[in-house]
Amino acid sequence: MKAFDSTQLYFNRAADQIDLTESMRCLLLVPKREVQVQVAIERDDGEVATYIGYRVQHDDARGPMKGGLRFHPDVDMDEIRSLAALMTWKTAVVDLPYGGAKGGMAIDPKQFSRRELELLTRRFVDGIHDLVGPDVDIPAPDMGTNADVMAWFMNQYAKYHGFSPACVTGKPVELFGLPGREEATGRGVGILTYKLLGRIGRKPGDTRVAIQGFGNVGSHTAKFLGEAGYRLVAVSDASGGFYRADGLNVPALLRYALDHNGSLTGFAEADAISNAELLALDVDVLIPAALGGVITAQNAKAVRAGIIVEAANAPIYPDADDVLQERGAIILPDILANAGGVTASYFEWVQNRQHYRWDLNRVRQELDRVLTNSFESVWELAATRNISLRAAAYVLGIGRVRRATELAGVC
Ligand code: NAD
Repeated sequence: MKAFDSTQLYFNRAADQIDLTESMRCLLLVPKREVQVQVAIERDDGEVATYIGYRVQHDDARGPMKGGLRFHPDVDMDEIRSLAALMTWKTAVVDLPYGGAKGGMAIDPKQFSRRELELLTRRFVDGIHDLVGPDVDIPAPDMGTNADVMAWFMNQYAKYHGFSPACVTGKPVELFGLPGREEATGRGVGILTYKLLGRIGRKPGDTRVAIQGFGNVGSHTAKFLGEAGYRLVAVSDASGGFYRADGLNVPALLRYALDHNGSLTGFAEADAISNAELLALDVDVLIPAALGGVITAQNAKAVRAGIIVEAANAPIYPDADDVLQERGAIILPDILANAGGVTASYFEWVQNRQHYRWDLNRVRQELDRVLTNSFESVWELAATRNISLRAAAYVLGIGRVRRATELAGVC
């Protein structure tokens, strides 16, 4: 199944719950704008190389469109379209005044020098600068991009439109960024996992957790859960996984990744396992925090965790979701689970526009408040309608976008 088909299926299941008309389904599903631009750079060896940059602006009924920039070899228009739609429902679930967008390039950032990555970013901005901006569409980091990429984006955008730090979020703290933005997605995953486990009466010390992916989101989730006393028994990155039944030493893992350019390859204080083995471990909580589409109809029966927290975007295909729900697994869906990042991005955007900045404590308090309120709304809706947390999150998000669309008037 393609990525957008999968998002569409989740959408339609929730739309059935609220009797959404066919015309409104069509209006909410069809992206507002899709562009692809040529991104050509001179590589360090003097060769000219050409790539494609994608940006999909899905819906702006509730405000300027918001969504990350992904640099990963698997990027294509279908994946970006699916991720852009997810952003529309996500910003609505946490009730931020935004719509949804996403962008990216099909490149492996590890194969480029820093100079080449800067050039790629600047040429991408050259291609899309007149379609984005603080009141239109605001990019942020995603897989393969970081604060440095956002700084280059802001600087290149300023060459066309003047000083405008709110054109992008996730910038370095020293350059109009926000303390706590970098940790916010992982911290949010941690906060929401804690809320969920609290609801079902589980104690941190008795809870074994496995996390797939140890980049921005996976590592900050590990840090938060480790500090909260959970037993993190397995982690992985693209090169493979590590398992220790008594619990991994999280500070040692974080230090190792920091010293090895983000990679866990060679970490010696645990047994080596594959990514497929990690997904099938006997743990209480499984947190996919890397790629989409990792739990499929083929491997869903092997997944043993009772709770799955979707830190990654779209890690579970709908047919796999059916298998997991049937055996009673509780799934915290991506459009809520990883919404901490866009929430902190919203704080950054607001403060850029006010030329004012909160300190880290204030950012963490506000993040906790927004995510807790959203979790409670989704939990209550799921209980009232007797539906899954995923269906409830979609019902809440789609309902808010529909209401804004109707209020603004379509004709
Ligand atoms: P990242 O690039 O910082 O890290 C990605 C991690 O995944 C790395 O550890 C990498 O080695 C690992 N990985 C890549 N391919 C893998 C594979 N085949 N198997 C196992 N691990 C693999 O990316 P990130 O920003 O942490 O994003 C991770 C996920 O979270 C993505 O799905 C992204 O869309 C989602 N997300 C990120 C943010 C954010 O603020 N960064 C916000 C919301 C959602």
